[in-house]
This record gives sequence, C-alpha cells and structure tokens, in this order.
Amino acid sequence: MKIGFIGLGHMGSAMAANLVKAGHDVTVFNRSPAKRNKLLELGAHAAVRVADACHAAEAVITMLADDAALGQVALASDGIVGTLPRGAIHISMSTISVTLSKRLALTHAAAHQRFIAAPVFGRPEMAAAAKLFIVAAGDAAAIATCQPLFDALGQRTFHFGAEPSAANLVKLSGNFMLAAAIEALGEAIALVGKAGIDRGAFVELLTSTLFDSPAYKTYGGLIAHSKFEPAGFAAPLGHKDINLMLAAAESLRVPMPLGSLLHDRFLRLLARGGDNLDWSAIGGLATQDATFSAA
Ligand code: NAP
Repeated sequence: MKIGFIGLGHMGSAMAANLVKAGHDVTVFNRSPAKRNKLLELGAHAAVRVADACHAAEAVITMLADDAALGQVALASDGIVGTLPRGAIHISMSTISVTLSKRLALTHAAAHQRFIAAPVFGRPEMAAAAKLFIVAAGDAAAIATCQPLFDALGQRTFHFGAEPSAANLVKLSGNFMLAAAIEALGEAIALVGKAGIDRGAFVELLTSTLFDSPAYKTYGGLIAHSKFEPAGFAAPLGHKDINLMLAAAESLRVPMPLGSLLHDRFLRLLARGGDNLDWSAIGGLATQDATFSAA
C-alpha cells in the first residue's frame, strides 16, 4: 500500500521500518527530521511536511507522543485532515484520549476521510520484532483494508467494534493494569529486598509459577535490577496514560482508587526528576521510601 507514516520515536521508527521491509511504499515524516535517516536508507521516501506524507496516501499512520502532538499534526490547516485524499484512512496508533479519538472520527468523516484507532500493546523491542498486539476499532471495511499493514507490524489484531474510541479506552485500561502490576511488584520487591532476600530470585520464583506472564517477567526483571535507563516507554508517557484513563473514568463516573494512587506515584517520580526514566521506575519508589536518607 502507499502509506504515510508520521512519528518516528521509539515505537514509530521500528514500525515504519517493518512496513518498508514488508514491501509497502512508505513516506515518513518526523518533527525532528534526522530521525528519518535510517528509514530513508531502508527505502522509505522523505516527507518534509506533514502534507507530503498525506497527499498521495491510501492511508496515513500516526505514532505520536500524545494528544497535543496528534491534535497539532492532524488538525492544523496544512495537517492530516486538510491534506489526506477523500476516502483515505487515518490510522491512529498512538495512545491518546477517548475525547480526541471521538473528535478525530467526526472531523475526518466531515472531510470524507476514514478514521480508525489501532493503539498497540508491546514495547519497542516487540515493535522491532513485529510482535505488537494491535487493538483496532472503527469501520470494518477500513480495518480490513489495513490488515496487511497490521500483519507487518504485529502478531495479532483484536477488534473492538465500529466506534474508534473503544480501542483507545481498551488500551488505556490495559496500561492501567500494567502500571498496577509495576506498583505491586515494586512494593513486594522492596519488602523482600530490605529483609536481605535476593530480589532477582524472588522475581524468578513468582514469574515462573503464579505470575507467569510477560508483564510480570519484563517489569519484575527491570525493578529487581533497578534498570530504568534507557527508557523503552518513558515515565512522562506513563503519567499521560494514567491521566487519560482517569479522565475517561471521570466522564463515565467509574471510581478507580488504584488509578488515583498510580497517578500520585507518577507525579512523585517526575517531581524527583524521573523524566528520562522508564515508566517502570515507579516500581523503584517503594525501595526508595524504605531506605533511610538524611537529606
Ligand atoms: P517517543 O519515542 O517519545 O516518540 C514520540 C514521537 O512524537 C516523536 O516522533 C516526536 O517527534 C513526536 N512528537 C512529540 N510531540 C510532537 C509535536 N508537538 N508535534 C509533532 N511531533 C511530536 O514515544 P514512543 O515511545 O514512540 O510512543 C509513541 C506513542 O506510542 C505514545 O502515544 C505512547 O504512549 C505509545 N506507546 C508506546 C509504547 C512504548 O513502549 N514506548 C508502547 C505502546 C504504545 P520528535 O522526534 O521530534 O520528538
């Protein structure tokens, strides 16, 4: 397919590379242009402006940081809505709010374009290995058209109906569960560690028996060894996701006390200078809290 790809960060650079390798005709845009270089070496075309990635595309994929970035790129006068051909598809793969997803669905429909949400589960390593889990929602025919792209990016696509924002809510809810697992691991690891028990052995026991799942294995290892740099998923993005999840909970009037606690943990991490750390660094806070410091 002839596609545009906008947003070549940790995730987007690996995803765009897999689309090129799968034989698609990919034109890439990134705010910081140097991040295009590796993709150009692989055979992608360069877009100097957002419009260059859109005007001849059957579909344009966005993998941007947050609502502010996507809103700017999609809704500016020379942005995606203003330059994507009629009938073409905007595939939003970032983790964004339910509110922005609904707004984009309406705006694209008014411009006779199609909008689907397809956020992903999986860190940059999984993106590089084309092993993402893709959560797709929107017009069924548009999703079917995009399936070859999803097949090049991930190991499985899950469908959540015709309303795109449903996929965004599913993604936010999943990230809430991941953050809750990180906090639980962090507290338990702090406890056994302070008692002088081997933290790695503790995680090995739990993740090869009762908690034998990728989330506990990945984050248990990172927390046990305090390996929070380099960030695969940066702490400010984790904070963003908990905020978006709480905003959705607020509008649906769903009390989520654990979500409020996690919001506070991210705030504490960022207040103490954690911007460049992986989001799993909230799992290191319990150990810090349990350690005497005169400062
Ligand atoms: P990232 O490495 O921080 O990349 C963010 C991208 O957004 C970069 O291309 C950045 O451009 C661009 N951007 C930020 N603000 C912008 C603006 N105002 N205008 C235009 N472009 C802007 O983030 P990431 O880890 O790839 O994550 C991307 C999305 O995927 C996020 O929504 C995240 O929540 C989600 N996600 C991440 C992971 C993960 O493990 N990392 C997993 C699943 C989902 P510059 O290069 O110019 O800064």
